[in-house]
Amino acid sequence: MAKVTCVLYDDPVDGYPKSYPRDDIPKLEYYPDGQKLPTPQKIDFKPGTLLGCVSGELGLRRFLEDNGHEFIVTTSKDGPDSVFERELVDSDIIISQPFWPAYLTAERIAKAPKLKLVITAGIGSDHIDLQAAMNGGLTVAEITYCNSISVSEHAVMQILALLHNYIPSYEWVVKNGWNIADCVERAYDLEGMSIGIVGAGRIGFAVLKRLKPFDVSLHYTDRHRLPESAENELGLTYHPDVESLVRICDVVSIHCPLHPETEHMFNDTLLSKMKRGTYIVNTARGKICDRDAIVRALQSGQLAGYAGDVWFPEPPPNDHPWRTMPNHAMTPHVSGTTLSAQARYAAGVREILECWFDGRPIRNEYLVVEGGKLAGVGAHSYTAGNLTKGTDEAARFKKE
Ligand code: NDP
Repeated sequence: MAKVTCVLYDDPVDGYPKSYPRDDIPKLEYYPDGQKLPTPQKIDFKPGTLLGCVSGELGLRRFLEDNGHEFIVTTSKDGPDSVFERELVDSDIIISQPFWPAYLTAERIAKAPKLKLVITAGIGSDHIDLQAAMNGGLTVAEITYCNSISVSEHAVMQILALLHNYIPSYEWVVKNGWNIADCVERAYDLEGMSIGIVGAGRIGFAVLKRLKPFDVSLHYTDRHRLPESAENELGLTYHPDVESLVRICDVVSIHCPLHPETEHMFNDTLLSKMKRGTYIVNTARGKICDRDAIVRALQSGQLAGYAGDVWFPEPPPNDHPWRTMPNHAMTPHVSGTTLSAQARYAAGVREILECWFDGRPIRNEYLVVEGGKLAGVGAHSYTAGNLTKGTDEAARFKKE
């Protein structure tokens, strides 16, 4: 019998939906690289419904309670008086998600002596102090690939939205305007431009594939070079470092994980090496960019636009400068939690829990930390260390 504490985002302001725009979602079996979609023995939810918010409960309540486990679901995650802080002290398992991150700091891990398993319902476990998880012998797992294609589609959408000045043009319509010149004074075609991808993993590679038909010049940098066949198929130019990539690109889309090597990678120095008028789209993690350096670069015109869906902290306070900086097209952290993606990550969490309770191994591709060290996908894509050394900022930032 385990206590499972789960932190999820709030329900819609007008209540949990009674109906949806569509009746179903496509049934997929495999991801593009051949990895099988989640294979739980059973699910207790309808794919295509809202599962990532508190009332959705990732569709887990019946499964957990029928098996005698205690299941706490909350949105209250920041600060010492939060429900999360209170419930974690005797929790065996914590489930959290990147869109509404329950920052699991070393201090919080130290307060949870029974904690054994931490599951990220999504991809990206940087809101967990992985070094502390390794030191504490915890298992950390995430649902690799569950929303990679969702994010790649969002990134392509934001690249086009920035280039074509879509959001300001939409706003003119809503304001009863027809201000063509106002709309197009910042509008360009993507065709012929050089696009650079930082981190050509599952998402980055999917973005490259999706951009190929736009007749652009495609560039990437990564710690591991792609196979020659992939480079040839898409006509990719490899750059051994990010500096060489940004010097020649018109658009840069960021898709590497946040870890000690990538924190604040896009700072004043790197931004100054870019072509004037470059666009950045960051759907990876907010802290890969230096918050204030991005604002300065937009204000000076060094950047023509910035979009993405990732911030630090999340949720950002009302006075977070990215809410009001010029020429941005930011969304909240939504790209990886479409209804389509939710069905996959809810099924993936269920698969991991079934394995855990049955004493079966968790798929290697889901593992981030196991047995005191980085494992599975974690060993491939992260570096050891406390990559979230700023997570305490989240609670502090909120109080300011
Ligand atoms: P992958 O692990 O498939 O890809 C990440 C890639 O980044 C890998 O190829 C990795 O290289 C590369 N990389 C790591 N460090 C560096 C570096 N210093 N410079 C350049 N490249 C680097 O993960 P995904 O593509 O599935 O996801 C990527 C990130 O996107 C996640 O970590 C997460 O932060 C974010 N994400 C955001 C979501 C959202 O909703 N906005 C949802 C899902 C993910 P290699 O492995 O070759 O060493």
